[in-house]
Amino acid sequence: ISKIAVLTSGGDAPGMNPCIRAVVRTALYNGLEVVGVRQGYKGLIENDMYDMNKRSVSNILNLGGTILKTARCLPFKEDEGMATAYKHLKERGIDALVVIGGDGTFTGALRFSKKYPDIAVMGVPGTIDNDLCGSTYTLGFDTATNTVIEAIDKIRDTADAHDRLFFIEVMGRDSGAIALRAGISCGAEAILLPEKQTAIEDLIKNLKEGHMNKKSSSIVIVAEGDKNGGVYDVAKAVQKEVNNYDIKVTILGHLQRGGSPSSFDRILGSRLGFAAVNALIAGETQKMVGLQANHILLTSLEDALNNHEFKLEADLLQMVDILSI
Ligand code: ATP
Repeated sequence: ISKIAVLTSGGDAPGMNPCIRAVVRTALYNGLEVVGVRQGYKGLIENDMYDMNKRSVSNILNLGGTILKTARCLPFKEDEGMATAYKHLKERGIDALVVIGGDGTFTGALRFSKKYPDIAVMGVPGTIDNDLCGSTYTLGFDTATNTVIEAIDKIRDTADAHDRLFFIEVMGRDSGAIALRAGISCGAEAILLPEKQTAIEDLIKNLKEGHMNKKSSSIVIVAEGDKNGGVYDVAKAVQKEVNNYDIKVTILGHLQRGGSPSSFDRILGSRLGFAAVNALIAGETQKMVGLQANHILLTSLEDALNNHEFKLEADLLQMVDILSI
């Protein structure tokens, strides 16, 4: 290979910038040219790309978001969109592509590469949801969890001062990874997850017991994808049965995506970007780089997309109720 393009796609995640930096500098170190693609697959179709040099990625390690911007791009799902993207890549002499994103991004990359195998593709798992197979952690998950913890610690202060019961919604439509870790870290009284159904009656029983045990505040974390109908429905159902607490609902929302990447995500982004370029140089394609048992390993995109891993640690799930008595 001689020229690599790099893009970020799907939801943004802290740690994407350290990864872009590692891709650019590893490629340049190895004598390759690098092109940055703006707004994910949209930039391929609209030919919105620029040549990058060592200085293009100066002072970005500490920045949240992605300097390349990201987008959701429906035309890339169509044959015509893919053909236009291919044409633009070929015109620029690009023969390899690093895509940083989640499963939608990988699905697009794999389809594209099967149609146009002369462009090698390498995926980097970048999503705060930590829901990809082939990497114990995804880029952005650690920072997002830390951001949630910081917010919940502050909510705990006011909850405690007023005997309040807080229901806090955190991100995770299909994945309770952030909810579970934040819940353990902040001593949540209960954590409602998409992966594990919690009956409202059990939740109410648990909260009443906590009150009898003289708990002055309670925090219940609800992942977006919990099956009880959303944080407001859960709070309403509990309010009917629990009247000793002043009940409040907080939705943390998009603040969870922002912020300077944690040390973990800066290192992970650097390792994954470095490994992605080295794998392309070694002739690999249609794979993703991931962290497994503290080693960087390759997984085929096919496996990463087809095999779903249950990622919530059994001991964490087990200790939720035990540690919050
Ligand atoms: P996150 O997990 O953070 O949402 P993601 O990568 O899964 O990230 P998506 O919006 O699902 O985010 O996908 C990103 C982009 O990948 C889409 O906007 C589209 O351009 C491309 N894509 C998704 N699915 C396909 C597909 N089946 N074929 C081609 N391209 C696709």
